[in-house]
Amino acid sequence: MGIEHIIYPRPVEEYIYLKKVPTGEKCPECGSNNVSRYPVICSLGAKMVVKCQDCLCALRYETPAPSENWPPYQPVTDGWEASIAG
Ligand SMILES: [Zn+2]
Repeated sequence: MGIEHIIYPRPVEEYIYLKKVPTGEKCPECGSNNVSRYPVICSLGAKMVVKCQDCLCALRYETPAPSENWPPYQPVTDGWEASIAG
């Protein structure tokens, strides 16, 4: 289990790009409807962000579903409760 998250075939596409999925939501900062959802790595870890593509306002960060395969690896400690370092 999980090996599909480790081994990748060589890409066959000429160009690799990130697919941003339009959500159709309205940006609360600038009023634009150009809002998309896509994977990011940020200070919160691997997340899915819903972000305005015009003013870059982040509407929210979501925990990716397992079917979204993000991040493309699974840490051994995935799902563990965080503890205070001491
Ligand atoms: Zn905006």
